[in-house]
Amino acid sequence: MATIIGTLLLAVVVSLAATDCGNRNLVSPVIEHKIDSLLHELTLEEKIALLHANAKFSSAGVARLGIPELKYTDGPYGIREEMKRHSWQPARITTDSATYFPTGTALAATWNPELAYLYGAALGSEARARRKDVLLGPAINLIRMPLNGRNFEFLSEDPYLNARLSVAYINGVQCQDVAACVKHFVLNNQERHRSEINVTLDERALRELYLPPFKAAVIEGHVYTVMTAYNKFQNAWCSENIFLLNEILKKEWGFQGFVVSDWAGTHSTYEAALAGLDVEMGTEREYDSNYFARPLLAAVETGRIDPAIIDDKARRVLRVMFACKTTDTDKRSYGARNTPGHSKTVYDVAAESIVLLKNTGGLLPLRAEHVQKIAVIGDNAVRKHASGGFGAGVKAKYEITPLAALKQKLGDIVHIEFTQGYRKQSAIHFRQGIQRETNDNPDIFLINKAAEVAASVDVALVFVGLNHDYDTEALDRENLILPYEQDRLVKTVAAANPKTVVIIIAGSPVDVNEINRSAPAVIWGWLNGSEAGKAITDVLFGDINPSGKMPFTLPVDLEHSPAHALDTYPGQHMCVEYKEGILVGYRWYETKKIEPAYCFGYGLSYTSFHYLNCETDKQLYHIGDTIQVKIQLQNTGDLTGAETVQLYVHKPESSVLRPAKELKAFQKIMLQPGETNAVTLWLSASDLAFWDVTTNNWKLEPGEYKLMLGSSSMDIRFSKDIIIE
Ligand code: BGC
Repeated sequence: MATIIGTLLLAVVVSLAATDCGNRNLVSPVIEHKIDSLLHELTLEEKIALLHANAKFSSAGVARLGIPELKYTDGPYGIREEMKRHSWQPARITTDSATYFPTGTALAATWNPELAYLYGAALGSEARARRKDVLLGPAINLIRMPLNGRNFEFLSEDPYLNARLSVAYINGVQCQDVAACVKHFVLNNQERHRSEINVTLDERALRELYLPPFKAAVIEGHVYTVMTAYNKFQNAWCSENIFLLNEILKKEWGFQGFVVSDWAGTHSTYEAALAGLDVEMGTEREYDSNYFARPLLAAVETGRIDPAIIDDKARRVLRVMFACKTTDTDKRSYGARNTPGHSKTVYDVAAESIVLLKNTGGLLPLRAEHVQKIAVIGDNAVRKHASGGFGAGVKAKYEITPLAALKQKLGDIVHIEFTQGYRKQSAIHFRQGIQRETNDNPDIFLINKAAEVAASVDVALVFVGLNHDYDTEALDRENLILPYEQDRLVKTVAAANPKTVVIIIAGSPVDVNEINRSAPAVIWGWLNGSEAGKAITDVLFGDINPSGKMPFTLPVDLEHSPAHALDTYPGQHMCVEYKEGILVGYRWYETKKIEPAYCFGYGLSYTSFHYLNCETDKQLYHIGDTIQVKIQLQNTGDLTGAETVQLYVHKPESSVLRPAKELKAFQKIMLQPGETNAVTLWLSASDLAFWDVTTNNWKLEPGEYKLMLGSSSMDIRFSKDIIIE
């Protein structure tokens, strides 16, 4: 209990923490003036040198003018191990270990922007300590499809949740004088054929779902850099897509930073330069032969490309350099690596991300004084997940596995017996392209042994899920089923011991049918950073009351999910049409009335919450108004705990299809047992608009709207009707 109160105090402090550090506009008269003078002094060659890679993770500066190289680093959840300057081989140095942060979906499951800010700030600090200028994250593509190999890096299937967390993350990073880089702009929602595929969808879905996180990153987060996606959109590569880059990003949203290609995602000189790409990175060719190197110079010299275009690109790079104080090292944040403070942020995020999915008979939390023997089963109890998964992997200074944490916490009082249960029977090969080889033959000996151990203990903890052979860049999964026949293990162990708790360690949706059928208690534990084992142990034993909520839907069947139901994955003839349009994630399940295994926003607590007295400040609103929704939330249980109140909206009568529910606001609040507190949520009337494809603009239809407040997308406690006039 003492720890719970400690956590409570901490959470209060956290919720008071700033989520910004002041004005970070890239453009100011002083800076623009400075850049004008510099552009005057720079030769054309020097300007062009700023616009392409001079190594795997840097672009050139101009030494004679004191402009340093710009140094990039992956990635979204930890500073990547140092690579050799000109190859993809690790540099094998000893000063590049880093803190491993929970991956994107774990961060999203906290539903806590204040934590996302601290996460970004700690990452930014580690980037500075490694002398990096641009952090290649956050990765904010929407989780459209459950099999996407990179879902674990991304945040959510909901654009609003995605935007709230990524804006805070960006603020955190950039407050450390490091440029964040939102990626991958846009529609990189599957890894299969990612470098060839052409995505088509109607503009309404683009505007309502896929663009909003990027728009928020630019307009609210003032993000300094944007990375283009590998794929095509409406037949044009994202790195040379005039509509996306020049028209939307730069003109409509007023983006003043620079646009960088994904690594080797540039396909032309003239088209890309004119469409709005500013910097080319990651090519496998000689740097001088980059599209944005000699060929760009030639295009200017022969009059094909206006020198003003080069000036604009160089200006954007220089703006970012000034914003990050790269030429003003005395004033620049120095950063720090692997600090106790960073570990604490990792722990706090991990602790708040863990989702309690099921807790029949109040099996959890466990009480150390009531258990003498525990079985710890499964490869994920001992596997470390920091490295792997490609560019995003981290060379972690340390990573506490669940087994290590359990032993550390209970070693003297409880007898812990580990048994393997299942073995990782897969590997990624780079022979002919990237391939996963896997073997799903159940190891009956291991399963029987696990059941035998489980039968002899008070509680069996089974750690199942995925690893980076599955949660990985460059490869999607083939299905949702847990690899290596883990379902069979769960079923057998649960039959041997009715007190079986299953802990799912994975960054993406998996099939939970067997787990749900067999196990009385189920927890989702994520790929949760250096402190993962400690956080899960503290949730299991009640030092932390779980408060995570699912950032994506867990379907009963893969075929229920929109992309699969409509047979739009992986596409045909290198073209994928997003036929589900605006019905992604819970918008689909809710509108089509398909029951998921666990819905978006779902997550239990060891305590219970009662929603009382829902009211809006008015009933009638006009465009430009702010709508205020208030409820009283009461903790009706015996433990301190946090609840995330979620506000969904629906328009019952509309000229166009409206999803049955759309998240428009949320608030996480911690309450003591018996405590009641007010929760106020705001949305603006314009948040109720839809993208009208006939006028190519947002349209706020007058009439009645339903506001729904609840504990998850399916657990709605109050509904209020309002009118927009
Ligand atoms: C990934 C990016 C990453 C880059 C550099 C690309 O393959 O798509 O997310 O930042 O590599 O490692």
